Amino acid sequence: MKLQSYALHNYRKIAQIEKLSPAQTEAIEVVGNVLPFKTNNYVVDELIDWDNLENDPMFKLTFPQKGMLSEEHYESMKIVLNHSSNRDEIRNMANIIRNELNPHPAGQMEHNVPEINGEKLMGMQHKYKETVLFFPSQGQTCHAYCTFCFRWPQFVGMDELKFAAKEASLLQEYVQKNTQVTDILFTGGDPMIMKAKIFASYIDPLLETEISNLQTIRIGTKALGYWPYKFTSDDDADEMLRLFERVIKKGLNLSIMAHFSHPVELETEAVKEAIKRLRGVGVQIRTQSPVLKHINDSPEIWSDMWRKQVNLNCIPYYMFIPRDTGAQDYFAVPLEEAWQIFRKAYQKVSGVCRTVRGPSMSCTPGKVQVLGVSEIRGEKVFVLRMLQGRNPDWVARPFFAKYDATAIWMDNLEPAFEEERFFFEEEHEWLFNEAVNEHERDVFE
Ligand SMILES: *Cc1c(COP(=O)(O)O)cnc(C)c1O
Ligand code: SF4
Repeated sequence: MKLQSYALHNYRKIAQIEKLSPAQTEAIEVVGNVLPFKTNNYVVDELIDWDNLENDPMFKLTFPQKGMLSEEHYESMKIVLNHSSNRDEIRNMANIIRNELNPHPAGQMEHNVPEINGEKLMGMQHKYKETVLFFPSQGQTCHAYCTFCFRWPQFVGMDELKFAAKEASLLQEYVQKNTQVTDILFTGGDPMIMKAKIFASYIDPLLETEISNLQTIRIGTKALGYWPYKFTSDDDADEMLRLFERVIKKGLNLSIMAHFSHPVELETEAVKEAIKRLRGVGVQIRTQSPVLKHINDSPEIWSDMWRKQVNLNCIPYYMFIPRDTGAQDYFAVPLEEAWQIFRKAYQKVSGVCRTVRGPSMSCTPGKVQVLGVSEIRGEKVFVLRMLQGRNPDWVARPFFAKYDATAIWMDNLEPAFEEERFFFEEEHEWLFNEAVNEHERDVFE
């Protein structure tokens, strides 16, 4: 299968596009000029059900929808498009709207950038003790774009401060010097957009050196969902598998952190074959996704997805709560509902699927899991705990927030029981202020 990508400039060539209503094509044009849009022939031909577009999760996951912009933003963009074909004018309106969509939640870019000998390593992020995130400069795009993605600013060219790793050798040096690091997590974009040769240029230096603390290489990718041929029939599929095999032969754990948002993505022959080949060389596959309105906001979808994953020998890992950015209003699920979806899905599956944790918010202090809603001495509360924390001592301590039926993110929550602050806040502020510029101090998320 040969990859054919589609974006705003050529999506009209998709044969099935004639099934769209005028309102749907208008939405693609209007929203697609603001938020990134990219899909491909696999998603179009094998995942989307073109006869049920109104309800189709994969269509909504990859094609811009009207509800992804506020009415006001939508109308403003529509007016510009109707009256002008001037690219600068269109881009200016797009940028005005983009800036109102909270393009940089949680300051992912600025914080947690590690240093060697006083030099900032811009292609890396080191937030939790054991795991370094690495953003290879060649892996900053994806096979198709998810409409909820918090990385959207980098895909529309808004990020001047793009994580761009110049050298794999700096990564190797950093991990060697920081012996608390056991895991390197390759992320992006999608590192599996890279050709095997290029990916090998990042991996091989790690294998050639003795780094006794390094134990796991993880690859965060949506390739199994959006382009499984990466591991089956692409020119370099075999070469990629041989590279994975080298990692495993070296005694390292190789984990693919596979992003699957819906069971449909697990049902094609192509994805089954890809998983089988990866498992065949000893790659572990762990799965994760955010919980998203219009896409997967029901317990049945999640239990079905976890069960199918386990049947394909994948390990359910995280259910995330989507970040407060971009088309957030379209996708947001209130925290209580996210927990109900998790709980009901978890009840439907046996223990082999219950390796999954969530629902979890990736906030500035750490990953916060919503354990549930409870009542303590007459006060309704959220019970929370950290799955990951900037300070490892915060992890796995339960804490409480006032119940709020409309809360969708950590910054909507306040401590319960007349407490002024969450238990970690004072220390977090201190850690945070160490790391960031003065003008960002009030950012807490
Ligand atoms: C989630 C995450 C990790 C990995 O955490 P695990 O719980 O080990 O999967 C590492 N770094 C950052 C910044 C993360 O958000
Ligand atoms: S595959 Fe991942 S990085 Fe790429 S658009 Fe989807 S969520 Fe974002």
